[in-house]
Amino acid sequence: MNDFKQIIKAGIFGVVVGDALGVPVEFTSREERREDPVTDMREYGTHSQPMGTWSDDSSMALATLDSIVKNNGIVYEDIMKRFREWMINGAYTPHGHVFDIGITCSRAVAGFRPGMDPLKCGADGERDNGNGSLMRIMPVSLYDALDENFWNSGRLEKAAENTHNASSLTHGHPRSLMGCMIHTAICHELIYRNDRTVIDAVQNAVDKTLAFYDNAGEKYPWYNIEFRTEIMADTYGRLRNLEAFKKLPDSDIKSTGYVVHTLEAAIWCLLNSESYAECVLKAVNLGDDTDTVGAVAGGLAGLAYGYDNIPAEWLDVIVSKDWINGLCEDFAGITLT
Ligand SMILES: [Mg+2]
Repeated sequence: MNDFKQIIKAGIFGVVVGDALGVPVEFTSREERREDPVTDMREYGTHSQPMGTWSDDSSMALATLDSIVKNNGIVYEDIMKRFREWMINGAYTPHGHVFDIGITCSRAVAGFRPGMDPLKCGADGERDNGNGSLMRIMPVSLYDALDENFWNSGRLEKAAENTHNASSLTHGHPRSLMGCMIHTAICHELIYRNDRTVIDAVQNAVDKTLAFYDNAGEKYPWYNIEFRTEIMADTYGRLRNLEAFKKLPDSDIKSTGYVVHTLEAAIWCLLNSESYAECVLKAVNLGDDTDTVGAVAGGLAGLAYGYDNIPAEWLDVIVSKDWINGLCEDFAGITLT
C-alpha cells in the first residue's frame, strides 16, 4: 500500500536536496562540471552559502506547502501572501534572507497586494516562460497526484485547474501552465507506478496529458487563443517518444532557466538514472540552472525511488530538515478534496 507520508517526504525532500546540491554551482558551465563534477554536497561557491542551503525554488515550494496545510486546501491569495513574506521578510528561507530570486517571480510577488486577484499577478507573455512556476509546483502537484482517481473525468479537469492557477501566480503563459501540468501528471504516475518501469509510467503521464490538451476546446474556461496556439506548436512534442528522447546525447539537452529546457532536462536525467543520487547528480552536472534542474529532477526521482533512496548524509545537512519534515507530515494529514 502507498504510504502518503513517505511519498510526500520523497517529493518534497527530493526537491530540497536537489536544490541544495545545485546552489553552490549555479550558473557554472557544463564544461566546468565535466572537469569538476559534483559528487556530494558542497558548500559556498556561487552564492557563498553553507552546506545544505536551499534556494528560492524550495522557499516558494515550502511556502506553498505551508499554505495548503494551514488552509486545508489551495487558497491562492494566501499563497501569494506567503510569497511576499518570503520575498520581503525572508520567511521560508534557510538563514532568514533571500539570496536568489527570478525576475518574473519577483515582479509578480512585488506587484501583489491583498485584495488583488492573485491569478492575474503572473506575467503571461511568451517571453515570460522561465522555470519559476515549475520549480515550486511540487506541493500542488502532490495535492492532486495523490488522488488515485486522478485521470477520471472531472478529477483531471480539477487537477489542471489547480495546477494552471498555481502557475499563474507568477507565470501565466500556457507554456508554463502545460509544463506544470505535465509535471503533476508525472508525479501521479510515479506515485502509482507499481511494477511498471519509470519510463512506462512517465510516458503514460505525458501521453494522457498531451491528449487532454490536444482534445481540449472551448468547454474549458482556460482555453483561449494563446492556449490553442501553444497546443498547435507542440512545444513538449519531444516527450511523445521517450525511448528516443532518452537516447539523445546530452548536447541535445539544455539546462537553462527556460521552462521547456528544465522539464526536459529533469525527465532526461530521470530516464537515464537508476537511483535518486544518480539522477540529481546528473542534473546538477548539466550546469547552468543547476539548482532548479536539480530540484525538478530531484522531486521526480524522489517519487520514482522513494524517500529511503535519498542519501541520508544529504538529508542530514539540509537546513531546517525537522521543520520541513513536520510540514510534510501535516500535509499528509489534510483531506484530499
Ligand atoms: Mg534557485
